[in-house]
Amino acid sequence: MTDIEIANAAQPLPIGRIASGLGLTEEQYETYGRYKAKVRLETLQGRPLHGKLVLVTAISPTPAGEGKTTVSVGLGDALTALGTKAVLALREPSLGPVFGIKGGAAGGGYAQVIPMEDINLHFTGDLHAITAANNLLSAMVDNHIKQGLAPAIRPGTVTFRRCLDMNDRQLRQVVTGLGGKANGVPAESGFDITAASEVMAVLCLAKDLSDLKTRLSRIVVGENAEGGFVTAGDIGAAGAMAVLLKDAIHPNLVQTLEHTPCFMHGGPFANIAHGCNSVAATRMALALGDVVVTEAGFGADLGAEKFFDIKCRQAGLRPDCAVLVATCRALKMHGGVDKPDLDQENVPAMTRGFSNLEKHLENLRGFFGLPVVVAINRFPGDTEGELGWLTEKLAAMGVPAALCDVHQKGSKGGIALAQKVLDALRQPAHFDFAYGLEDPLGEKIETVARRIYGATKVTFSPEALRTLQRLTRLGYGSLPICIAKTQYSFTDDPKRMGWPESFEITVRQVRLSAGAGFVVALTGDMMTMPGLPKRPAALSIDMDEHGRIQGLF
Ligand code: ADP
Ligand code: MG
Repeated sequence: MTDIEIANAAQPLPIGRIASGLGLTEEQYETYGRYKAKVRLETLQGRPLHGKLVLVTAISPTPAGEGKTTVSVGLGDALTALGTKAVLALREPSLGPVFGIKGGAAGGGYAQVIPMEDINLHFTGDLHAITAANNLLSAMVDNHIKQGLAPAIRPGTVTFRRCLDMNDRQLRQVVTGLGGKANGVPAESGFDITAASEVMAVLCLAKDLSDLKTRLSRIVVGENAEGGFVTAGDIGAAGAMAVLLKDAIHPNLVQTLEHTPCFMHGGPFANIAHGCNSVAATRMALALGDVVVTEAGFGADLGAEKFFDIKCRQAGLRPDCAVLVATCRALKMHGGVDKPDLDQENVPAMTRGFSNLEKHLENLRGFFGLPVVVAINRFPGDTEGELGWLTEKLAAMGVPAALCDVHQKGSKGGIALAQKVLDALRQPAHFDFAYGLEDPLGEKIETVARRIYGATKVTFSPEALRTLQRLTRLGYGSLPICIAKTQYSFTDDPKRMGWPESFEITVRQVRLSAGAGFVVALTGDMMTMPGLPKRPAALSIDMDEHGRIQGLF
């Protein structure tokens, strides 16, 4: 059965039942249809965040993904089956990947969050609201310039970009305001995908409504005549932007196929943005559940590092354990096997590619100080020889690991993993950040590149260096950093697999996200607006005359 067939055959509980199972009263949530709700943020007030926090991350992935969401969902269901009060905190999907290359983001097989069609399409409208708030600011900036309002923004200095929740490379660089004086002031500009927009990051990191407004008003839009920054607050846009986000700020509550509660809220990508669901959703889950399973995007070099160094730091959260998802397919890819051959047994390639897993393991245990459980996510093409080799290899190293088959078996396929995770949660975590906020910005970037990626050298373009110096001078030196890098490699070159030995990371450009509260360093050829592949998923998505959707996976 396909994902959508499994999801449609499921019998979800009315969302009120899930909410009351969490101890919520009817005043504390608003339903969106029968199976979705937004739990009011005020619900959190005065509640201790007593839950244990489990981060699901992965080795460097193949383009299809290694199954972090699927494993998270299955682990949540397995914990529930073992009698633990488990709550999930996940990101909500972006239309870009849904119609592009990667597909939906609500898990897969018998480990899914439902209603999957709604979740993967417009859900509760959060991404549309974020897009609207972002583009309201752009419209107000350009109008501010056209009308000659104070404080004056120097034309040509506008750094704030429009956004759209779509993979559309055509909009990466655009010229706006053409057509004469009545039609605006011509300017070079560009679009980011909504998942990479600063407003998305702001929504995800805001603790409450007043924090949301403060962050929105801090967003830098351009420069004044003296070379100082002009912010959204300076041009009076923050209040109206916050109004557009008044519903989006409340975490969405949905359920898994096996009725484990799931907060699905906020969706920044981990390669070009900070990569984890909202602080509000994670805090809500920690207040209401005993064990919270959350996911950070792509490999642990990206999502996990940003989860720890940006999100946990800003929100005062302490992770208790990490689950590292590994697949035979990805290990073969790291061992040099091409995509069409990934389904063939190849233990020697896995042996070569194992170094990628080792480096992620070293980072999570050694640098971040967390107990780690490796989840071997079983795919249909995996052979007993491959799975046996990987299991034995990890056992010989003394690494807690479990074979995970939640895609085929739901919670039953995740019991062994859940037990290992519960064991890990009984061990002490010695969590620490990768760098201190007091380090200079350039040094923070170097520390992550050298320690977490294993780079031997970090090079900054002259433009990046200038921006770093300027941001430091203007008082932004103590912000954490958010490195935009390919998810396929520890390096900034997507083709270098495994655990590359000696390589250089090049920081091409640096951007300030003052509202989100971090400095973005763009490495390699990273784009903040993805494009569609030659054969986008959209070509297979269709609907019959009864409104039944096919091709969403
Ligand atoms: P990630 O969150 O790491 O990007 P997902 O959980 O979204 O990965 O999984 C990526 C894709 O792979 C999804 O289409 C999912 O259904 C599929 N998938 C995940 N695990 C398995 C598995 N064990 N067997 C088959 N397909 C799987
Ligand atoms: Mg995912």
